[in-house]
Amino acid sequence: MKRFYDGLKKGSVMLVDTTLRDGEQTAGVVFSNREKMRIAKMLDNLGVHQIEAGIPVMGGDEKEVITQIASYGLQASIMAWNRANIEDVRHSLECGVDAVAISISSSDIHITHKLRTSREWVLENMTRAVEYAKKEGVYVSVNAEDASRSDMDFLIKFTREAQAAGADRLRFCDTVGVLEPFRTYEVISRIIDTTGIEVEMHTHNDFGMATANALAGIKAGARFIGVTVNGLGERAGNAALEEVAMALKCLFGVNLGVNTKDFLNLCEYVARASGRPLYPGKPIVGSNTFAHESGIHADGVLKNPRTYEVFSPEEVGLQRQIIIGKHSGSKAVKMKFEEYGIALSDEEASDILSAVRSASVDLKRPLFDKELMYIYEDYLYEQKRPPKAQKPSGEEN
Ligand code: MN
Repeated sequence: MKRFYDGLKKGSVMLVDTTLRDGEQTAGVVFSNREKMRIAKMLDNLGVHQIEAGIPVMGGDEKEVITQIASYGLQASIMAWNRANIEDVRHSLECGVDAVAISISSSDIHITHKLRTSREWVLENMTRAVEYAKKEGVYVSVNAEDASRSDMDFLIKFTREAQAAGADRLRFCDTVGVLEPFRTYEVISRIIDTTGIEVEMHTHNDFGMATANALAGIKAGARFIGVTVNGLGERAGNAALEEVAMALKCLFGVNLGVNTKDFLNLCEYVARASGRPLYPGKPIVGSNTFAHESGIHADGVLKNPRTYEVFSPEEVGLQRQIIIGKHSGSKAVKMKFEEYGIALSDEEASDILSAVRSASVDLKRPLFDKELMYIYEDYLYEQKRPPKAQKPSGEEN
């Protein structure tokens, strides 16, 4: 049995990755089919529960790659995205996916200005598409687009009719990213308490709260979180897979059973494929997340990493780095030279540290190891001393 259906039975919290659909909808991002297949495999190896692979009605390459992904025999459920009409769903079924997302707007602003229709039309079309898909035996998520700006009573009515048509879950879309965690908790609690439906959080990061809102939804009883690798997605993006998984694990104590050690690999691959490099401060996988420069932090981490790290870098595929630069302290300098088998006295470390600081200010960056060695050589020259012996040769044999 696919891991998704196993998780359904067990009542686990599950990840629905939409890197290949919402992620690719990021303005200016296109994946080749080969990249899409690679990403699907990586997500499956990571342990993601459901992969939203794309939009079959687009036809051509898109439909072809969804068909290929669906035929891989992956452990993840493969879902395809549809508007609420039978034609779209038929294209999805032709791809051999086991799950479909059927999407239609539930907010009046979308119904009036985008669809230019009525609430009744929305309910009818949603119902017809869901009934058709259920008759064909696939898992159905009904996506309430712009749910966060919908009239609450109408959203409840919409949900009830979706349930009556056989929908397996409601994807609650914060399409324009206007939720905040307290409101999210209230709204999701009300939907679940009133209807008992399974809820997927689909949150956008317009105010930097996509991950926070997704977690608030989980607190309120939602069981599914829609995510993308690196938080790719429309505008400011979606909740990031790596952030959601690590926050659930470290802050909520919910272990999703994903291979977090593969995060860096996956995130770097998707960064390259999407042409969106990881910025240094990117939570979880940015190059700075385990880099310590300031004297106080580096000293703490060298004594016990838990002083300034919530989880270890190896857990997500990274390595700790002690950066030597303007903010370094002499303990870190000593430690760095010990790596080269050079034991500095306190006085030497403090002299070298002042040279490190001024070089770092001149260069406006921390120093490479080679540059540290040059500083050390210059220092010895100024002191008119021969270089200290490096590691005794016996040690290296
Ligand atoms: Mn979206």
